[in-house]
Amino acid sequence: MDFNYSSTTTEIENNGHTIEFVCEAGSELTIGTKTYQLLQFHYHAKSEHQVDGSYHSLEVHFVHKASDTDYAVVGVFFEPGEENELFTEFLAHFPTEKGTYTDTTEINLAGLLPENKSFYHYSGSLTTPPCSEVVNWYVLKNEISASATQIAQFEGILKNNYRDIRNLNGRTIYSRDE
Ligand SMILES: [Zn+2]
Repeated sequence: MDFNYSSTTTEIENNGHTIEFVCEAGSELTIGTKTYQLLQFHYHAKSEHQVDGSYHSLEVHFVHKASDTDYAVVGVFFEPGEENELFTEFLAHFPTEKGTYTDTTEINLAGLLPENKSFYHYSGSLTTPPCSEVVNWYVLKNEISASATQIAQFEGILKNNYRDIRNLNGRTIYSRDE
Protein backbone atom coordinates (compact mmCIF):
# COMPACT_ATOMS: atom_id res chain seq x y z
CA MET A 1 0.00 0.00 0.00
CA ASP A 2 1.62 3.21 -1.23
CA PHE A 3 0.54 6.66 -0.17
CA ASN A 4 1.38 9.44 -2.59
CA TYR A 5 -0.23 12.32 -0.79
CA SER A 6 0.51 15.90 -1.82
CA SER A 7 0.03 18.99 0.29
CA THR A 8 -3.48 20.23 -0.24
CA THR A 9 -5.86 23.00 0.64
CA THR A 10 -9.28 21.83 1.73
CA GLU A 11 -12.92 22.63 1.46
CA ILE A 12 -14.26 21.94 4.92
CA GLU A 13 -17.79 20.71 5.24
CA ASN A 14 -19.60 20.32 8.53
CA ASN A 15 -22.56 18.22 7.38
CA GLY A 16 -24.03 17.65 10.81
CA HIS A 17 -22.70 14.13 11.33
CA THR A 18 -19.04 14.63 10.59
CA ILE A 19 -16.61 17.26 9.45
CA GLU A 20 -15.25 16.43 6.04
CA PHE A 21 -12.11 17.87 4.49
CA VAL A 22 -12.47 17.72 0.71
CA CYS A 23 -9.01 17.62 -0.85
CA GLU A 24 -7.59 18.99 -4.08
CA ALA A 25 -6.98 16.38 -6.78
CA GLY A 26 -3.50 14.91 -6.89
CA SER A 27 -3.19 12.70 -3.83
CA GLU A 28 -3.19 8.99 -4.60
CA LEU A 29 -3.17 5.64 -2.91
CA THR A 30 -1.83 2.62 -4.78
CA ILE A 31 -2.81 -0.87 -3.69
CA GLY A 32 -1.39 -3.64 -5.84
CA THR A 33 -2.02 -2.54 -9.41
CA LYS A 34 -4.91 -0.23 -8.55
CA THR A 35 -4.67 3.51 -8.04
CA TYR A 36 -7.23 5.40 -6.01
CA GLN A 37 -7.67 9.18 -5.85
CA LEU A 38 -8.05 10.77 -2.45
CA LEU A 39 -11.40 12.58 -2.27
CA GLN A 40 -11.75 13.62 1.33
CA PHE A 41 -11.02 12.72 4.91
CA HIS A 42 -13.18 13.01 7.99
CA TYR A 43 -13.21 12.06 11.63
CA HIS A 44 -15.17 9.86 14.00
CA ALA A 45 -15.16 10.11 17.79
CA LYS A 46 -15.14 7.41 19.09
CA SER A 47 -13.55 5.15 16.48
CA GLU A 48 -15.86 3.13 14.20
CA HIS A 49 -13.62 0.11 14.33
CA GLN A 50 -12.80 -1.97 17.32
CA VAL A 51 -9.53 -3.79 17.67
CA ASP A 52 -9.69 -6.71 20.09
CA GLY A 53 -13.00 -5.42 21.36
CA SER A 54 -12.03 -1.91 22.35
CA TYR A 55 -12.65 1.50 20.84
CA HIS A 56 -10.11 4.23 20.26
CA SER A 57 -11.14 7.77 21.10
CA LEU A 58 -10.72 9.08 17.59
CA GLU A 59 -10.40 7.72 14.05
CA VAL A 60 -9.72 9.49 10.77
CA HIS A 61 -11.05 8.04 7.48
CA PHE A 62 -9.29 8.81 4.20
CA VAL A 63 -11.80 8.17 1.40
CA HIS A 64 -10.36 7.22 -2.01
CA LYS A 65 -12.05 6.37 -5.26
CA ALA A 66 -10.93 4.32 -8.25
CA SER A 67 -14.39 4.15 -9.88
CA ASP A 68 -18.06 4.51 -8.87
CA THR A 69 -18.07 0.96 -7.61
CA ASP A 70 -14.61 0.86 -6.14
CA TYR A 71 -13.67 2.86 -3.09
CA ALA A 72 -10.87 2.39 -0.60
CA VAL A 73 -11.11 3.87 2.87
CA VAL A 74 -8.09 3.97 5.14
CA GLY A 75 -8.79 4.28 8.86
CA VAL A 76 -6.17 5.57 11.28
CA PHE A 77 -6.61 5.61 15.05
CA PHE A 78 -5.44 8.24 17.46
CA GLU A 79 -4.01 7.55 20.86
CA PRO A 80 -3.53 10.12 23.61
CA GLY A 81 0.13 11.11 23.80
CA GLU A 82 2.23 13.82 22.27
CA GLU A 83 0.52 16.81 20.77
CA ASN A 84 -0.19 16.45 17.04
CA GLU A 85 1.17 19.51 15.25
CA LEU A 86 -1.15 19.21 12.27
CA PHE A 87 -4.08 19.10 14.66
CA THR A 88 -3.15 22.39 16.18
CA GLU A 89 -3.81 23.92 12.76
CA PHE A 90 -6.96 21.88 12.20
CA LEU A 91 -8.62 22.71 15.44
CA ALA A 92 -8.23 26.41 14.81
CA HIS A 93 -10.18 25.99 11.55
CA PHE A 94 -12.86 23.56 12.68
CA PRO A 95 -16.34 24.81 11.90
CA THR A 96 -18.66 24.09 14.80
CA GLU A 97 -21.76 25.05 12.82
CA LYS A 98 -23.16 23.22 9.78
CA GLY A 99 -21.88 24.65 6.50
CA THR A 100 -19.06 24.68 3.97
CA TYR A 101 -15.88 26.63 4.44
CA THR A 102 -12.91 27.11 2.16
CA ASP A 103 -9.57 26.81 3.82
CA THR A 104 -6.50 28.12 2.04
CA THR A 105 -4.02 26.59 4.48
CA GLU A 106 -1.86 23.96 2.77
CA ILE A 107 -1.77 20.85 4.88
CA ASN A 108 0.63 17.95 4.63
CA LEU A 109 -1.43 14.82 5.15
CA ALA A 110 1.61 12.72 5.98
CA GLY A 111 1.19 14.15 9.49
CA LEU A 112 -1.95 12.05 9.85
CA LEU A 113 -0.33 8.73 8.95
CA PRO A 114 1.86 6.48 11.08
CA GLU A 115 5.25 5.55 9.71
CA ASN A 116 4.49 1.85 9.67
CA LYS A 117 1.55 1.10 7.38
CA SER A 118 0.70 -2.45 8.52
CA PHE A 119 -3.02 -2.94 8.14
CA TYR A 120 -6.17 -5.01 8.51
CA HIS A 121 -8.30 -5.30 5.40
CA TYR A 122 -11.88 -6.28 4.70
CA SER A 123 -14.56 -5.50 2.15
CA GLY A 124 -17.55 -3.63 3.43
CA SER A 125 -19.77 -0.65 3.04
CA LEU A 126 -19.72 3.06 3.58
CA THR A 127 -20.69 3.84 7.16
CA THR A 128 -22.98 6.69 6.11
CA PRO A 129 -26.01 6.36 3.77
CA PRO A 130 -26.40 4.87 1.20
CA CYS A 131 -23.99 2.33 2.78
CA SER A 132 -23.36 0.73 -0.61
CA GLU A 133 -21.22 -2.37 -0.54
CA VAL A 134 -18.39 -0.97 -2.57
CA VAL A 135 -15.70 -0.19 -0.06
CA ASN A 136 -12.37 -1.81 0.54
CA TRP A 137 -11.47 -1.01 4.11
CA TYR A 138 -7.90 -0.73 5.31
CA VAL A 139 -7.43 -0.12 9.00
CA LEU A 140 -3.89 0.76 9.97
CA LYS A 141 -2.55 -1.14 12.97
CA ASN A 142 -0.34 1.66 14.19
CA GLU A 143 -1.84 4.72 15.79
CA ILE A 144 -0.77 8.32 15.59
CA SER A 145 -0.80 10.55 18.61
CA ALA A 146 -2.64 13.66 19.67
CA SER A 147 -2.70 15.20 23.11
CA ALA A 148 -5.55 14.31 25.45
CA THR A 149 -6.66 17.94 25.24
CA GLN A 150 -6.78 17.84 21.43
CA ILE A 151 -8.77 14.61 21.47
CA ALA A 152 -11.21 16.13 23.97
CA GLN A 153 -11.65 19.14 21.68
CA PHE A 154 -12.53 16.80 18.80
CA GLU A 155 -14.99 14.91 20.94
CA GLY A 156 -16.65 18.20 21.83
CA ILE A 157 -17.13 19.03 18.15
CA LEU A 158 -18.07 15.59 16.80
CA LYS A 159 -20.33 14.45 19.66
CA ASN A 160 -20.23 10.67 19.28
CA ASN A 161 -20.70 10.43 15.51
CA TYR A 162 -19.59 6.82 15.28
CA ARG A 163 -21.85 4.10 13.92
CA ASP A 164 -22.43 1.08 16.09
CA ILE A 165 -20.33 -1.95 15.41
CA ARG A 166 -21.88 -4.29 12.84
CA ASN A 167 -21.77 -8.01 12.79
CA LEU A 168 -19.09 -9.23 10.41
CA ASN A 169 -21.59 -11.56 8.67
CA GLY A 170 -18.91 -14.06 7.86
CA ARG A 171 -16.58 -11.52 6.29
CA THR A 172 -12.92 -12.31 6.39
CA ILE A 173 -10.46 -9.86 7.85
CA TYR A 174 -7.02 -9.97 6.32
CA SER A 175 -3.96 -8.84 8.16
CA ARG A 176 -0.74 -7.62 6.68
CA ASP A 177 2.43 -6.48 8.39
CA GLU A 178 4.89 -4.20 6.67
ZN1 LIG B 1 -16.02 7.54 8.23
